[in-house]
Amino acid sequence: MTEQTTNIDPWQMAIKQLDKVGEILKIDENILKLLKHPIRIVESNFPVVMDDGRVEIFTGFRVHHTENLPNKGGIRFSPNVTKEEVMALAFWMTFKCAVVGLPYSGAKGGVICNPREMSQKEIEKVTRRYTYQMINVFNPKGDIPAPDINTNAQTMAWIYDSYSMYKGHSELGVVTGKPVELGGSLGRASATGRGVFFVTRQALQKLGLPVEGATVAIQGFGNVGSWFARIVAEHGAKVVAISDWKGGIYNEAGLDVEDLYKYVYENPENTDKTVVGYSKITKKITNQELFALEVDVLAPCAIEGVITKDNAGDIKAKILVEGANGPTTPGADEILQKKEILVFPDVLANAGGVTVSYFEWVQGNDALFWKEEEVNSKLEEIIVRAFDSVYDYADSCCNKDFRTAAYAIALERIVKQYELRGIYP
Ligand code: NAD
Repeated sequence: MTEQTTNIDPWQMAIKQLDKVGEILKIDENILKLLKHPIRIVESNFPVVMDDGRVEIFTGFRVHHTENLPNKGGIRFSPNVTKEEVMALAFWMTFKCAVVGLPYSGAKGGVICNPREMSQKEIEKVTRRYTYQMINVFNPKGDIPAPDINTNAQTMAWIYDSYSMYKGHSELGVVTGKPVELGGSLGRASATGRGVFFVTRQALQKLGLPVEGATVAIQGFGNVGSWFARIVAEHGAKVVAISDWKGGIYNEAGLDVEDLYKYVYENPENTDKTVVGYSKITKKITNQELFALEVDVLAPCAIEGVITKDNAGDIKAKILVEGANGPTTPGADEILQKKEILVFPDVLANAGGVTVSYFEWVQGNDALFWKEEEVNSKLEEIIVRAFDSVYDYADSCCNKDFRTAAYAIALERIVKQYELRGIYP
C-alpha cells in the first residue's frame, strides 16, 4: 500500500457538513456563501536544487478560510496534497477553533512532495523556500502555522529561522509546535493525542465504561496516533491493534505501546517508521480489518476519507473518536448514526493540538513559559468543557449526532463574528 488518500473530495465533504447544519439552524444564505469561499488561496510553484544537482519544481499552498480572527493551521507535506484538501483542512480549522473557543480563524498549508523519498537536506530546503514564498502570508499577528502530516518540531524550527532571518529579528510567535529549546511549549508534542484521550475518557464515562480495560484500535502511529496510544495505555486501556501506511498489527492481550514506540521511533533500521515488522503480536492485520474489530474505541488518527459508506457497515466499535481530520465521509456518518455508534468528530476530538498551539503562541508573544502540568491541566479544562457542551447540545438537538452538534455550536459563534465585524467596507 502506498500513502494514498481515497478519491473522496474533502472540500465537498466539508460543504455537505456545512449545508446540513446550515439548514438545521436556518443560517442566512449570505453567511453560508462566505463560508463556502475561502478568503485567500495562495499557490506557488518554487524551485529547489536537489542533492544530485537536479532542479525540481514544488507546488505549495496556504489557504485562509475566513479572516475574522488571526489565522491558524498546520502545514502538511505529502504527495497527495491538493488545493481542495488544503481548503477543506482550513475550513475544519475555522470550525475547530470555534468549538473550543480559541480566538482564531482557520488556515492550512501544504506542499506536494514525498518526504519519504527526500534527504533531510532536501526537506529543509523545501521548507525554507516554501517559507520564503509565504513570507508575506505567515505573520505572528495574522497567520501562524504548525505541524501536520509529515512535518514536525524540526520543520517548525526551519520555518521560525527562515522567517526570522528574513525579518531581521527573532519572531517567536510566527509558528507553533517549535522545539522547546526554541520557544516551543512543553506539552505541545503530546497535545493532540492527549486531547483525543480526554474525549475518549469522557465518552467512555457516558457509557458507564472505565478507561481501564477498555479495548482500543488505532489507525496511524504518527504524532497523533502514537501519543494517543501511549496516554490511553498509560491509563490502563488495552490497545489491541495499530495500523499505518504499511499495514497493521494485532494482539488481543494488548500491545506493549511503549516498546512499540521504541521499535518505530528509536530504531534507525526502521526507516519507514512503521509498526509492521514488530514481533510481539498475535497476527498481522490490514487497515480494513482494523476498522472491523470488535473494540470499545476505534480511533482513526491518520488521513481523511478512510471510513466510507463501503466499510462503515463493518464497524463494530462502540465509540469512534476522530484523531485525524476528516476521516469519515458524510455517507459513512449516516450509516454509523443508524448503527448507534457514537462518533466524536475531528473538530472536537483533535482540537488539543491547536489549543496547546494557542498556549504556545500566548507564551511566545509574552516571552513567558508555563510548566507542563499547567499546560496539560489547562488543556483538559478546555477539552472537557467543549466535550460537555457538544454532548449536551447533541442530546437536545440531534439525537447524539455529535458532528452536527459541534458544527452547530461553532457555526453560531462564527455567524456572531460576521455580525459583529460586518462586511468591509
Ligand atoms: P504524522 O505524519 O505524524 O502521522 C501520520 C500517520 O498516518 C503515520 O503513522 C502514517 O504511517 C499513517 N498513514 C499515512 N497514510 C496512511 C494510510 N493510507 N493508511 C493508514 N495509515 C496511514 O501525522 P499526524 O500529525 O499524526 O496527523 C495525523 C492526522 O491528525 C491528520 O489527519 C492530521 O491532519 C491530524 N491532526 C494532526 C495534528 C497535529 O498536531 N499533528 C492536530 C490535529 C489534527
